[in-house]
Amino acid sequence: MISEQQKHIYDEIEGGTRSNWHDWKWQVRHSIRSLETVEKLLGIRLPDDLREQYAKITSKFPMSITPYYLSLINTDDLKNDPIFRQSFPVIDELRVLKTDMADPLGEDKDSPVPCITHRYPDRVLFLVSNTCAMYCRHCTRKRRVGDKDSIPGKTQVIEGLDYIRNTPRIRDVLLSGGDPFLLSDEYLDWILTELRKIPHVEIIRIGTRTPVVLPYRITDELVEMLKKHHPVWINSHFNHPREITASSRAALKKLADAGIPLGNQSVLLAGVNDCPRIMKSLVHKLAVNRVRPYYLYQCDLSEGLSHFRTPVGKGIEILESLIGHTSGFCVPTYVIDAPGGGGKIPVMPNYLISWSTNKVVLRNYEGVISTYREPDSYEPAFCDRNCEDCSLTLHLDDAEEYKAVGIEKLLADYDKTISLVPENNTRYHRRK
Ligand SMILES: *Cc1c(COP(=O)(O)O)cnc(C)c1O
Repeated sequence: MISEQQKHIYDEIEGGTRSNWHDWKWQVRHSIRSLETVEKLLGIRLPDDLREQYAKITSKFPMSITPYYLSLINTDDLKNDPIFRQSFPVIDELRVLKTDMADPLGEDKDSPVPCITHRYPDRVLFLVSNTCAMYCRHCTRKRRVGDKDSIPGKTQVIEGLDYIRNTPRIRDVLLSGGDPFLLSDEYLDWILTELRKIPHVEIIRIGTRTPVVLPYRITDELVEMLKKHHPVWINSHFNHPREITASSRAALKKLADAGIPLGNQSVLLAGVNDCPRIMKSLVHKLAVNRVRPYYLYQCDLSEGLSHFRTPVGKGIEILESLIGHTSGFCVPTYVIDAPGGGGKIPVMPNYLISWSTNKVVLRNYEGVISTYREPDSYEPAFCDRNCEDCSLTLHLDDAEEYKAVGIEKLLADYDKTISLVPENNTRYHRRK
């Protein structure tokens, strides 16, 4: 299964047999890093505005495209092509707005050790690789792409493992990078084995874009290795239905057949997928391939991404077109990763229109407005976290350790807190 365009690209690179096309290492070795190669392999001359300042853009944000991903580009309408837009640098990337930031998510601030971001109570982001098969133009960690200093070496990975080992609250470890699947099977196997030795690590997640840009990376050997470390969950990163090809379907099938639950995280990108019909087609294709749409991200405030950003309303419009209109599990959660390190905040259309003491008024996806009558005689169990004496016989072993934080704290019976006040509230400081 190899298209005419793929044959052409292959012949241009290798000028011979085509036996290596499906070898992921060959793909990585021949990743395209220059404008001239793009032109040669696509058999076109790029328009002047794209050639202009290419060197300046790539000295700040380098380019790298796998021959496979390049082969998906439709040269008839280059500038509007979703594959081209995600992979080829444009001058807009140098437009840095005053509101842009190098590290909008504050990942560096929440790093106890260099390759760990510990933001949520029970899970961490573990950056084990700084390399990617392709440099996505919309990368939120653009600041680090191609930066040799931030390649996590084995010493740093050991430091990360130590941190996880010494932090019993961590039950979920999310391997990211870079792309963890650019590491060798042996090295990844070692990381996973070390993680599995830690009793409190319940699940391991891997975030990878290889099923999209380098599907041949999903080899039988890789999958056999991953299976030894279950439960392993994988999140991929498809943004457009055109990225779902025979090769990527085969990669997803291998992973799903190995019992790996698959999710997908898309980024809402202007000119790529900011359209309810495109997103609906994408989520349907994902579901057919046993991939559950997990998150739809609002594009971050990282430098060099301003041309990709949409208003938040576009994301809400897309969710409005999905919720109720299609299978519930085809609907991703739309999130804004809060600048400053607040984490992911879900955003949704409003379905709760109004409410009184015993009725709520709701609307559905068709605009039908209904009321739901609430019970007159609900007797809430007062919760003092004393499960021993509770009528709900849950008897949770670790209930002792549980303490509510944030808004949950305001709702809890057993916590006396009645308000949350920002630390620097001057009015509070004035108080006696
Ligand atoms: C996204 C993210 C996670 C995982 O969040 P989930 O909502 O559990 O998928 C963990 N840590 C950091 C820093 C993240 O950005």
